[in-house]
Amino acid sequence: MRQVAIYGKGGIGKSTTTQNLTVGLGEMGKKVMIVGCDPKADSTRLVLGGLAQRSVLDTLREEGEEVELDSILKRGVFDIKCVESGGPEPGVGCAGRGIITSINMLEQLGAYTNDLDYVFYDVLGDVVCGGFAMPIREGKAQEIYIVASGELMALYAANNISKGIQKYANTGGTRLGGIICNSRKVDNERELLENFAKEIGSQLIYFVPRDNLVQRAEINKKTVIDFAPEEPQADSYRGLARAIDGNEMFVVPKPMTQDRLEQLMMEHGILG
Ligand code: ADP
Ligand code: MG
Repeated sequence: MRQVAIYGKGGIGKSTTTQNLTVGLGEMGKKVMIVGCDPKADSTRLVLGGLAQRSVLDTLREEGEEVELDSILKRGVFDIKCVESGGPEPGVGCAGRGIITSINMLEQLGAYTNDLDYVFYDVLGDVVCGGFAMPIREGKAQEIYIVASGELMALYAANNISKGIQKYANTGGTRLGGIICNSRKVDNERELLENFAKEIGSQLIYFVPRDNLVQRAEINKKTVIDFAPEEPQADSYRGLARAIDGNEMFVVPKPMTQDRLEQLMMEHGILG
């Protein structure tokens, strides 16, 4: 079982990419579970066809400790198992706690079955607090992919996440498997991302084009492979699924300084 965490700046496309890519893996015959680790609890709606998924934390609040696996785990397209950890009530407590509670709960309830090929954790934003670093800190996820684009803030976040991975690499054994570019159509974007990845010791594992079809599929509560299987964007997600499935490059990243990051962007004609 490969346990994979997807990190990246908020809004960069983690949930969209994770769901499209896991459906690509499902199409290849792989058995997958997605654990949404974002208080927004929107990590699985495309795989579930819009079905409202009750989060683990909500269920715990409403039903107490006697939770049944069926009430927090729903099956979507290609039988993908879907869980949302959820978050605390607004303004109360640390959102990261939800992830810890959820993973522990899933372990207790036997959700990590031997037939699973992959578990994906879709984790919000930067590695800002211990809770969000939990999948890597505790060594739950051995493998991380960072979703980024050619925009400064996306690369800034990617670099920070690399610092987090580096910090926990020794204790948890987690490695960076690569950078996924979710294109924002920035000039020289592919080259910039290739060079960024190379410089932190990793690789650009895949370049996902920007395509409005992603939004159209989203409004129809579907992944692109489901909504428009013949379109090139569906093939992009299949390509990403194959790239991850065949990946053999796992490293402890070497983050760069903020100055170097800005310089790199200038070298690609993006800043200044
Ligand atoms: P995150 O989970 O990182 O916060 P989301 O996956 O929710 O981000 O994506 C934010 C928005 O970007 C979504 O509305 C989604 O439709 C859009 N989006 C993501 N990837 C693409 C893409 N490759 N092409 C077009 N739109 C995209
Ligand atoms: Mg998300």
